Amino acid sequence: MIIDSHVHLITHGMAQAAFNRMDKMSKGAISRRGKSGPGIMNRDFIDFLGRTEIAEFARIWVEELDKNRVDRALFLPIGGAGLDEMDQFTSLHPDRFSAYMMPDDPTEKKVVQELEKLVKSGRFVGIKLYPCVSGVSVADERAFPLYEAAGALDIPILIHFGITMAPIADYRLTNPMDLMLPSRMFSETNFIIAHFGAGFFREVLLLGFHAKNIYVDTSGTNNWRMFLPRVMELSEIFKRAIEVYGAERILFGTDTILNGKTGYRDFVLAEQLKALDDLALDQDAHNLIMGGNAARLFGLGEL
Ligand SMILES: [Zn+2]
Repeated sequence: MIIDSHVHLITHGMAQAAFNRMDKMSKGAISRRGKSGPGIMNRDFIDFLGRTEIAEFARIWVEELDKNRVDRALFLPIGGAGLDEMDQFTSLHPDRFSAYMMPDDPTEKKVVQELEKLVKSGRFVGIKLYPCVSGVSVADERAFPLYEAAGALDIPILIHFGITMAPIADYRLTNPMDLMLPSRMFSETNFIIAHFGAGFFREVLLLGFHAKNIYVDTSGTNNWRMFLPRVMELSEIFKRAIEVYGAERILFGTDTILNGKTGYRDFVLAEQLKALDDLALDQDAHNLIMGGNAARLFGLGEL
């Protein structure tokens, strides 16, 4: 069984909303950049999004998952907009697709109610936070009601720390150490750090010293390794993560986005399978990382 715990659904509406939001935050800097130089998204990608309906996204995704023998994927939006589209998308194949919600501002009171409503559908199984883009530190106590609700509902919170492709990002909010306090205060809430911390690998390992409710996802190309003081092989990253977190707290992901040209990131899947093979893990540990942990953590049941 393979569960990809980190892929993206981006629709035209979601892209537009994210663009508008970031442009507002940057006081028009992004749209000015778009007029005078390269835009933040290439034209072909925008055109692909513009002509691709939800049903078509779902059709391509099932085809891609089948081709790569992936049983289920967990989809992340790129902002708070488009929940209806995400709901529509996952409802087309609830046996293959699950979703995260992603509040633009996790401190807003309405987010907790929104979460409670979405969780009832059974299709929304996680929350994504992006502190360096939302401008809200994960240590901000105004977000604590959300952490508490997530714990009560047994909904894990995935957080992007570290290096980001987002055009507007405050890197002061990218350090996973900010999670130390909330992870201790909300011991019933499970937190997942995306991309092994995307550059903050040392900090991710340090956090593992205390926290039993912190998980790590393996998603993406992991090319943040190029910006470490010493570049580490992917298998070495897996090895150290397993040594500190244990195989039961690591979740496989590819960070795939359909762009009209390339499909599922099979090269990421292959690269990570190879890294696991190089470590000669026992079958149980391998199965946990590739899907067992996600099934347990997100309550996806026996697949
Ligand atoms: Zn991602």
